[in-house]
Amino acid sequence: MARCKKCNAEIYFLNTSNGKLIPVDANSLNEVELYDLKNGLRRLYNHKRHISHFSTCKFAGSFRKKNYKKKKHNPFDYYDTLFKN
Ligand SMILES: [Zn+2]
Repeated sequence: MARCKKCNAEIYFLNTSNGKLIPVDANSLNEVELYDLKNGLRRLYNHKRHISHFSTCKFAGSFRKKNYKKKKHNPFDYYDTLFKN
């Protein structure tokens, strides 16, 4: 388990299909996934079920343009803007 450095929320890092890690809200994970993650196993991010912490962090707005939440977005695009350069 990890905590967001910005808001201290409980998050877990899931693997994405392109080999990156994405922070996900702990409460969007099911019991099996939590169990595996706590035991050092990796789980794959599923955008249909898991909630990226980028979309819920109240401090993420500082990285974003205004009205970002109103737009449809791909969380991976946002992830890239944070970690590129
Ligand atoms: Zn946060």
